[in-house]
Amino acid sequence: MTRISDRLTRLHPAATRVVSEKAADLRRQGRDVISLSTGEPDFVSPPAVMDAARAALEAGHTFYTPAAGLRELREEVAHYYGTRFGLDYSFDEVMIGSGGKPLLFEACAALLNPGDEAIIIAPAFVSYLEQVRFLDATPVVIETDPQTLDFALDDIRAAITDRTRIIMLNAPNNPSGRIYGDDLVIGLCELAMEHDLTIINDEIYERIVFDGAEYRNPLNLCPEARAHVLHINGASKSLAMTGWRIGFAIGPKELIRRMTMLQGHNTSGPNSIAQWATLGGLQHGQDDIDAMAAEYQKRKDLITERLGRMPYLRYIPPEGAFYIFADIRETYGKTVAGIRIEDDVSFCEALLEQAEIAAIPGSAFLQPGFFRMSFATSEEVIATAMDRMDAFFEALA
Ligand code: PLP
Repeated sequence: MTRISDRLTRLHPAATRVVSEKAADLRRQGRDVISLSTGEPDFVSPPAVMDAARAALEAGHTFYTPAAGLRELREEVAHYYGTRFGLDYSFDEVMIGSGGKPLLFEACAALLNPGDEAIIIAPAFVSYLEQVRFLDATPVVIETDPQTLDFALDDIRAAITDRTRIIMLNAPNNPSGRIYGDDLVIGLCELAMEHDLTIINDEIYERIVFDGAEYRNPLNLCPEARAHVLHINGASKSLAMTGWRIGFAIGPKELIRRMTMLQGHNTSGPNSIAQWATLGGLQHGQDDIDAMAAEYQKRKDLITERLGRMPYLRYIPPEGAFYIFADIRETYGKTVAGIRIEDDVSFCEALLEQAEIAAIPGSAFLQPGFFRMSFATSEEVIATAMDRMDAFFEALA
């Protein structure tokens, strides 16, 4: 029998699996399941991306690229951080990876020894926790106030020990859409400086913001923390390039150098055509990025307007990303489609069974009692889903 490592057997399968497997079963039975579960844009990548990819193929750019990625793209990302945030980075403080996720892993691997601790603020993208666990380090989860989905600086301060190395920060947040207040972000930066920690600042949704909300880079709020912040960004969300697998890491040179060493022994430089495509997207696709963000705004207006009229749900309208994260604890104890709702998982099962809507339980994001709906889908699909949800809540008894 193949003996799998302890490290790997310790990993939890994504809690999203229960719902997605059930949704696939129902589809196989011919049922018309609406998916509000996917965390990816429904847009095809913009023309600037496609054109650059075609040109790269024609030019024969089919060779290995450097382990840190194409110099041209690293320079363009550094330039982007200059124009977007006024931050001065050079190309050797930037690396390109095969998506945001592998870069998060490389960052954790570069910073954590076995037994070290990483602070993760709930609700959170669940891969943070599993990556930390995989490295024999300890995730320390900070609960947030369910009313505001804000964390308390005192809780972070109390969680810091001699073994703490990392604070994971993600705004606009997946799943909550929250952009944390300036005071909280400044407070985190101060704690990072005081205790010599690294903030891994996952800002992959920074271009998708609503109602004039402003996403501010932590280093605009606290420039002194520059040596303590690593930004994770990428092409997946803003440029609708999930399948191309391109992410960016921007931060202290030595950290980037070490992460690059690891990448060199693992994936090597990312896919060459995808890097040229991303370069085209950054150079010529800025209007498309804004146009897609405007579409998400319309969808967000539609879904929040409909949800606002429904009973049982409590949620804070998202300030960014493309998710609604709603508190459904008021439905506990009710029954529908023969399913008694006892927690967020049974809520999502009932929603799938009765309303044929696939959504993700909050426990998949370390925040039980909630569920996440993605509105990265057409207004027509959203409207149908909301009709079904109205009927679902009416059927609750
Ligand atoms: N960070 C967050 C918060 C995400 O939601 C995602 C994708 O869902 C990622 C990182 C990973 O992005 P990528 O597809 O570039 O690996």
